[in-house]
Amino acid sequence: MEEKQKIEIFNWERLLMGEELPYTFLLEVLFRSVTMFMVLLFVLRLSGKRGIKQLSIFELAIIISLGSAAGDPMFYHEVGLLPAIAVFLVVITLYKAITYISGRVEKVEEFIEGKPLKLLEDGVIVYENFKNESLAYDELFSELRLKNVDQLGQVKKAFLETSGELSVFFYPNEEVKWGLPIQPDVFNQTEKVILKAGVYACCHCGLVKTITSSELICPTCSKKSWIEAWKNQRVV
Ligand SMILES: [Zn+2]
Repeated sequence: MEEKQKIEIFNWERLLMGEELPYTFLLEVLFRSVTMFMVLLFVLRLSGKRGIKQLSIFELAIIISLGSAAGDPMFYHEVGLLPAIAVFLVVITLYKAITYISGRVEKVEEFIEGKPLKLLEDGVIVYENFKNESLAYDELFSELRLKNVDQLGQVKKAFLETSGELSVFFYPNEEVKWGLPIQPDVFNQTEKVILKAGVYACCHCGLVKTITSSELICPTCSKKSWIEAWKNQRVV
């Protein structure tokens, strides 16, 4: 049987600094923390995802950093308390410094927080913006449905906020336009062949066109799946 590890309980040197580490190791912790925090922030930003619910990428990076620094010294006997506290101090200082700078330099703010992106305008998806975001149609339509939108013509403008949430501005009832229906059971019935003339919406960008013949390729997104457009008002 393996022998149990013998450690001296409440050895203050180990408790504070971790096993066999000089106090100067704290300087290395400073350097490690700054580097890893920046790497974390950069990678989260590169992932293209926006924040999670109410949290921006920046706040997420802070929570991840503090979380991992706090947890380890709680039960790893070889991890000291002081290095963890040093990480806390570094992360909080970085947080204050970056917040201060991004309040003054717009470019920094844009990198850290991102900026709101227009996803819908006049009942149509802003295709240029949409295709650059790592957001699926399903997610967008689901967010809209949760706000009682069942066809895009009810929406004047919608923005993807830096938190990842969608802000939606509606047309008043009398100005509602023709638009792409987004109820899942209806949305899946695209017209392969258009047999009768009528108002149709492009399933990819929501562009609405009156189609009379087999003019099938969408001028905005070059896709060709159409569905009969709706013009009903939004019921709340
Ligand atoms: Zn289209």
